[in-house]
Amino acid sequence: MSDCLFCKIVAGELPVDIISENQEFIAFSDIDPKAPIHKLVIPKQHFENLSELAKADSALAGRMSEFLVQLADELSLTEGYRIVFNTGVFGGQTVFHVHGHLLGGRQMSWPAG
Ligand code: AMP
Ligand code: ZN
Repeated sequence: MSDCLFCKIVAGELPVDIISENQEFIAFSDIDPKAPIHKLVIPKQHFENLSELAKADSALAGRMSEFLVQLADELSLTEGYRIVFNTGVFGGQTVFHVHGHLLGGRQMSWPAG
């Protein structure tokens, strides 16, 4: 998807702070962090959001959650963390390439805004 911001990151056309990567996923620092630790995990393949990913390839969606949890472990978020998939306009999604937010390093509040 040539007009997709996160596809540009996958293609290496936008510099980001990559912290972890394998054949299927990239993890990088969010440009506008909402917590002391705020990382984004994206699949290299383009899907609009979690709904589209899970319907198209549920095994890949499962491996994405595994990748996010491994990243939380690597970052030693032993006191807990939050993983968020904003999905669709009412879900607060602004970039329409599926991404999981990994947030940590502070007490989270609930309900989300
Ligand atoms: P969402 O609102 O759930 O779609 O999340 C999109 C996230 O992408 C936001 O937290 C932005 O701060 C983040 N973001 C946008 N552009 C970049 C970029 N170039 N590098 C890193 N993070 C970005
Ligand atoms: Zn994309």
